[in-house]
Amino acid sequence: MHKILHIVYVKKGCILALSLLIALLVIGFQRVSSRYEEPAISALSWTVANKLIVIDPGHGGLDPGALGSMGVHEKDIVLDVSKKLASILREAGAEAVLTRETDQELSDPGVNYTYSAKIQDLTRRVELANSRRADVFVSVHVNSFPNPREDGAQTFCQPGSEESKKLAMAIQNECNRFLANQGRKTQQVDYFANRMTKMPSTIVEIGFITNPREEKLMLDQQYQSKVAWAIYAGIVRYFAQPKSAIAEPSR
Ligand SMILES: [Zn+2]
Repeated sequence: MHKILHIVYVKKGCILALSLLIALLVIGFQRVSSRYEEPAISALSWTVANKLIVIDPGHGGLDPGALGSMGVHEKDIVLDVSKKLASILREAGAEAVLTRETDQELSDPGVNYTYSAKIQDLTRRVELANSRRADVFVSVHVNSFPNPREDGAQTFCQPGSEESKKLAMAIQNECNRFLANQGRKTQQVDYFANRMTKMPSTIVEIGFITNPREEKLMLDQQYQSKVAWAIYAGIVRYFAQPKSAIAEPSR
C-alpha cells in the first residue's frame, strides 16, 4: 500500500516537474520570439508608409464608456492609447487621423447623451473615415464584464468582410504575442462602426476594465505604449499580406 502510494507520489512529482519545465520552456520561447518579432515588424514598417489610418478613440465627453473600480473612464484610456498609436504610425510614414483629439463627444452639444446623440456621434466617426477614403479604420475601446477574472485584448470585425477579418486577426495575433492575456480570438459581430465603414475596419477592445489587474495595467503609460505597439504591429502585418485584387483598399 505504502509502496504503491510512494510510486504514485514519485510519478506525480515527475509529471509536475515535467509540466513545469515545459511551461518554463514555452514562456522562454515566447519571450525570445517576441523579442525577435520587434525587428521583424520594424523591417516591415514600410508597408504602412503613405497609408491613411483613421484611429477612433471610443466614447468621449458626455459618453464616458466603461467605468473601472478605481474610477477610471474608458474614454480616457482609449484616447491615450490612440494618441500613442498615431505617433508610432506617423514615425513609420503613415498618415494617422484621430476621430477625436480631446475629451469630447462628436454629437451636437446637448445636456444628455441620448441614443440619437450616440448614433450621430458614431455616424460622424464613420463619415470621417469614409470621406477621407482611409485605408483602414481602427476603433479603440476597453471591455467590461461582470466576472472580474475576464481579461485580455480582443478584436471585432463585421461578419462577411474578409479584409476586415484579416485586419482584425492580424491585430489579434500581435496582441496575443506582445500582451499578457488569455489568447482571445477575433470575433465577427455586427457593430455600427464596422458595418458602416467602407474600408477594412476593426474594433480593438484592449483589455477589461472590470479586471483589477488589467485596469491597473491599462493606466500604466508603458503598458499603453505596449498596447499601441501591438496594434501597430498588427496593422503592419495586415499591409504586408498579399491581397486579392477585388479587396484592395482604394484611395
Ligand atoms: Zn467602448
